[in-house]
Amino acid sequence: MITVKVLGTGTSQGVPVVACECNVCQSRDQKDQRLRTSVMVETPQNVIVIDAGPDFRQQMLREKVTRLDAILITHNHKDHIGGIDDVRAFNWIQKKPMDIYGSESSLKTIRKDFAYAFGEDKYPGVPQINLYTISGEPFHVNNDSIIPIAALHGSMPVLGFRIGGFSYLTDASYIEPEEFDKLRGSKVVIINALRKEQHHSHFNLQQATEILQELQPEKGYITHISHQMGFHHEINNLLPSGIELSYDGLQISL
Ligand SMILES: [Zn+2]
Ligand SMILES: [Zn+2]
Ligand SMILES: [Zn+2]
Repeated sequence: MITVKVLGTGTSQGVPVVACECNVCQSRDQKDQRLRTSVMVETPQNVIVIDAGPDFRQQMLREKVTRLDAILITHNHKDHIGGIDDVRAFNWIQKKPMDIYGSESSLKTIRKDFAYAFGEDKYPGVPQINLYTISGEPFHVNNDSIIPIAALHGSMPVLGFRIGGFSYLTDASYIEPEEFDKLRGSKVVIINALRKEQHHSHFNLQQATEILQELQPEKGYITHISHQMGFHHEINNLLPSGIELSYDGLQISL
């Protein structure tokens, strides 16, 4: 049994966007309030978070998370790694470093952006982090086997992840057929779509919908949503059955 808790579903600026007066950013519907994109996956062995963006602290508080075994990083953009300093809370409670898994380029950026956590003469209380480089090969977190799925975000390589019947791919605009095959047979798929219009580094709503229709999971969800997408309830009503816009706080069991 796997439980997925959707921590955030917004694009890099979140929704509402600071200082934006558009209708979506002014909406009172909770489902139009989107923190930066992240999910938590609970398996019998592990509690794993995929990406720790600037809203990581708020997400951990909202979901009352008291245990976290590992963080998987999709890519090095700030909306996916900006909250890593807040693993300090788990270092303190769990009395050990946080295990963070990512590609070589993601880990390089983490070492640079959080240099104070990796220096020789560290200030007491800085985050304690163990970095693990992942290639294209499946890897293990405790006893969970995790399959990385390589995709492109514009021209930038990003990683999606498959854990059992759950697949997660965000910030992608292209996926090779061979990698696409790794998503097949998933019960639940979460994939990114920024908005209805085309974008150079994200799938749009139609592209993401077509991917989900091809994969035919029991449930397909859209994430990394911009205020340009429109109101949650309006867009959601237009989608084919079995496909929904995700929203912050959504829980899925599989
Ligand atoms: Zn992003
Ligand atoms: Zn707006
Ligand atoms: Zn990105």
